[in-house]
Amino acid sequence: MKTAVIGFPRIGKDRELKFASEKFFRGEITEAELQSVAKEIRSENLRLQKEAEITFVSSNDFSFYDNVLDTAALFNVIPARYKALGVSELETFFAMARGYQGDKGNVKALAMKKWFNTNYHYIVPEVEDDTEVKLVGSKVFNEFIEADDAGVETKVAIVGPFTFLKLAKFTGNKKLADFVDQFTVAYTDYLNKLNDIGVKWVEFDEPYLVRDLSAEDIALFTSIYKTLLANKGSVKVLLQTYFGDIRDAYKDVVGLGFDGVGLDFVEGRKTYELVKTEGFPKDTLLFAGLVNGKNIWKNNYEKTLGVLKELEEIVDKDNIVLNTSCSLLHVPYTLDSETKLTEDYKKHFAFATEKLGEIKDIATLFDSQDAASEVLKANKALFVDRINSVDAAVQKRVSEIKDSDYTRLPVFEEREKIQKERLGLPLFPTTTIGSFPQTSDVRKNRQEFRKGLITKEQYEEFNEKKIAECIALQEEIGLDVIVHGEFERNDMVEYFGEHLAGYVFTEKAWVQSYGTRCVKPPIIWGDVSRKESITVKWSKFAKSCTDKPVKGMLTGPVTILNWSFPREDISLKKSTLQIALAIRDEVLDLEANGIDIIQIDEAALREKLPLRKSDWYSEYLDWAIPAFRLVASGVKPETQIHTHMCYSEFTDIIPAIDAMDADVITFEASRSDLQILDSLKENNFKTEVGPGVYDIHSPRVPSVEEIVTALDKMRNSVEDKKLWVNPDCGLKTRGETETKASLINLVAAAKELRAKVN
Ligand code: GLN
Ligand code: ZN
Repeated sequence: MKTAVIGFPRIGKDRELKFASEKFFRGEITEAELQSVAKEIRSENLRLQKEAEITFVSSNDFSFYDNVLDTAALFNVIPARYKALGVSELETFFAMARGYQGDKGNVKALAMKKWFNTNYHYIVPEVEDDTEVKLVGSKVFNEFIEADDAGVETKVAIVGPFTFLKLAKFTGNKKLADFVDQFTVAYTDYLNKLNDIGVKWVEFDEPYLVRDLSAEDIALFTSIYKTLLANKGSVKVLLQTYFGDIRDAYKDVVGLGFDGVGLDFVEGRKTYELVKTEGFPKDTLLFAGLVNGKNIWKNNYEKTLGVLKELEEIVDKDNIVLNTSCSLLHVPYTLDSETKLTEDYKKHFAFATEKLGEIKDIATLFDSQDAASEVLKANKALFVDRINSVDAAVQKRVSEIKDSDYTRLPVFEEREKIQKERLGLPLFPTTTIGSFPQTSDVRKNRQEFRKGLITKEQYEEFNEKKIAECIALQEEIGLDVIVHGEFERNDMVEYFGEHLAGYVFTEKAWVQSYGTRCVKPPIIWGDVSRKESITVKWSKFAKSCTDKPVKGMLTGPVTILNWSFPREDISLKKSTLQIALAIRDEVLDLEANGIDIIQIDEAALREKLPLRKSDWYSEYLDWAIPAFRLVASGVKPETQIHTHMCYSEFTDIIPAIDAMDADVITFEASRSDLQILDSLKENNFKTEVGPGVYDIHSPRVPSVEEIVTALDKMRNSVEDKKLWVNPDCGLKTRGETETKASLINLVAAAKELRAKVN
């Protein structure tokens, strides 16, 4: 059986690329030194895939920052302001990715966006009116030749023209349609060049095909590829899709005459059905994405072999290629680096390197059809049970959730009145989103405690001192609702995971998020419950330091789920409900301890919105929103529930956000065009709102006038009695000086407004 891999993590086993790039950015190593680290990573990745006898290994899956940006650079889609710097090719590339500040000029980076439904971010290419789209780069060809020299004949992977055009931003008067011909010519030249250097297979990645497509989209796709296929020469073309099924485009895609088509059988709910009902062309290779490129659980061989068997009835056996469902970029490098997890746990996981072994296993089993194989037996055993993963009490609790548990009573309007009376806050109440600057002493305290260098008492004493100082500062500034500052948290998900039963943590399971940044998502191993109170101690202490209302600070269930590796043996909905019950316990515990305002952050709620609009509710919001409601529904009417989201791009799901039934929501608005506010008004948004009045992503201190102006604009859409005044996100990455100055201005602005209104 032939096998394939879409892409391999390029950050390196020990994040070598991150550290080398950062050294290069600081001027500590030369470009040649950086290139040599990159080459080592590539050659190790090739070695691993060769060892696993992968038939179709990708080259050009490496990037110094991002593959979309690589493609932009390849085709000269480099905005004039970066060209004007006159720096080297690699430095121009980094200038687009991260901005440039130096003797050659000062330019900001290009925008960055989430890559479909992953936590990876791509750089948004900018096409200007006079951009001359043409083949100028050489990286992709060099990497093919490099692999060839190392004895691996690779398929050359690149972002396809359709996805590239759909993701690009057209900054001038000209639109996408004005550039189609230029791109078609440039991609044709690219194919010619591949033929010249002896490439046998090229892979065009077209994940955009898994989105909702219009007739024009499909016409665009078809017309470009008709031309490319007619001019491709002898190179074979693989059209690769991932992150879902391609139901809108399936017929057109398989009808075009590609040499190979890659389909995602993991996230593509309808993929199998499509192949079955629509058929698959006889002379085309089907790259069947059956090994999950996004999650870390071992593949269920029996199940996978079952799908392959069914495919065999439709597609010629020799034409089935076992593939990953997407690039392995989205999983950590290797399980070998995990020294603390015992084999009881590790045997259930497969990171990128281990997935290569799985591909080899499955291919061997498929060829041998050996039902008595030891490998198969061992794999089957993994799915019988997992140690410590079942908690009957948790399952019972979830099964006993009643419809009424999702509803908080009395209704919002009544609660609003009760809370106004109880809390006695002024008009335009001021607050922050939770965290205060995480200065080096704060991080040091946590690290030393983690390493066992200081006692728990010392650790807590330090935190209490920080909380007391933070509260004194907030009182001095004159904020109305006080927070404790979050000095105990490294990360808003990991911190909660550590206090929940059912979670497992890794040491080095890093996954690239953007550029040199990686995240280390914890793993939801089993049934989740609250082991102990999590934040109560800190909030209680904070409360003892002030007479003002203190806001308790929690992370919501959907965000906890979305930033973890989820289970595959139970539904996301069930898993989220378990987490929701655990956080609900914490909410009630805070309330019982006198905390009368509780914020439940849902920073990542929008992130996992399905790629197709038609799936938004049925596949996600229909359980995600109720899960949030379950967390908050048990509190008394006078307890005020806040939530926070890190973006304001929820114009299209405003009713769902309102249905979370929080009392107050704060969100980022300072950088957006405030269009969200109009939509709130149009939708009769009932929840009180705190659209961020200044941008915490920059050290700049906003002036009082500026904040008043922003608030006045907001008042056009939000009733005075519903408007809160706050920064747009947590302050943990900011310095102390600018934080204090900004908050002083924020309070002054609120006061100025109050004076104006009264
Ligand atoms: N409460 C968190 C903080 O202030 C929220 C972080 C976030 O929205 N990402 O840091
Ligand atoms: Zn935020």
